[in-house]
Parts: sequence; structure tokens; C-alpha cells
Amino acid sequence: TYIVGDACIKCKYTDCVEVCPVDCFYEGENMLVIHPDECIDCGVCEPECPVDAIKPDTEPGTEKWVELNGKYAAEW
Ligand code: SF4
Repeated sequence: TYIVGDACIKCKYTDCVEVCPVDCFYEGENMLVIHPDECIDCGVCEPECPVDAIKPDTEPGTEKWVELNGKYAAEW
């Protein structure tokens, strides 16, 4: 699963949403999030993000964002 991190806060780009083959981006409080159960781990969105906010959830330091993506996605 990929996650969206802090660089996305108040970001106005939605390039990631347009390329995701399974449409698993959702709107969180002030950022976009990726639904952890829907993401197929394709990686297509990562290079598309102009602010480098998208990372694999295995990357060190992403724990807080993994939790937030799951929380906001669950509200949909
Ligand atoms: Fe969508 Fe692929 Fe990005 Fe997951 S890794 S959010 S499936 S584009």
C-alpha cells in the first residue's frame, strides 16, 4: 500500500487521482488519502505527485501517515 504524507496538506494538485487505476484516493480533512484496502500497490501515482507526498507504507517515518490514511479513508 502507498500512503499520502504531510506534503499533501492543502495541496491543490490531483495528478495522482487521475492516474490511479483503481480510484482509491479519497478526501481527508485537508489532504488526499489512499484507501489501504483498495490500493493495489502499482506505484503509478508516486512519480506523478508534484510535491512528493506519496510513499510506500514500508518507508521509515511514515507510521503516522499510514494511520491517518486509514482513518480518513474509513470515513468514506
Ligand atoms: Fe492507486 Fe497505484 Fe497509487 Fe495505489 S499505488 S494509490 S493503486 S496509483
